[in-house]
Amino acid sequence: MSLPYRIGMGFDVHRLVADRALWLGGVLIPHSLGLLGHSDADVAIHALCDAMLGAANLRDIGYHFPDSDPRYKGIDSKRLLKEVARLLEEKGYIFGNADITICAERPKINPHIPAMQQALAECIGCPVDDISIKATTTEKLGFTGREEGISAYATVIIAHK
Ligand code: MG
Repeated sequence: MSLPYRIGMGFDVHRLVADRALWLGGVLIPHSLGLLGHSDADVAIHALCDAMLGAANLRDIGYHFPDSDPRYKGIDSKRLLKEVARLLEEKGYIFGNADITICAERPKINPHIPAMQQALAECIGCPVDDISIKATTTEKLGFTGREEGISAYATVIIAHK
């Protein structure tokens, strides 16, 4: 017999480049650089989607939304998150809560966290209090420290209905 609760973790990285909008946690953030990817490259949402899919043992975001598929070119990642929430519901799971960490040297993430919580909770259909978002730098070390990219980690718990 298995426990009624299941956890999942997700991790993602996208490269920072010029002439791209910076979408993070479902929110457009003013910055000189943006994240590169087939979709809008929202690294926080992608990590969250993978954590949710992992908790439900439903493979990963690339399996459901391949970057070779023109339907997902430039897509708003909030649409992917809504679809992932639907897949979990379809498999008989209730979303519990998520804890997300975004690693970026710049821009400052903290002022945008309440808007991100609101945006993600709306997609999942959960209370805002069930979405935690934390920001950190990597003390100028590594690719995030050199501002070559942004990474994100997410942990999620779900339960059987
Ligand atoms: Mg990604």
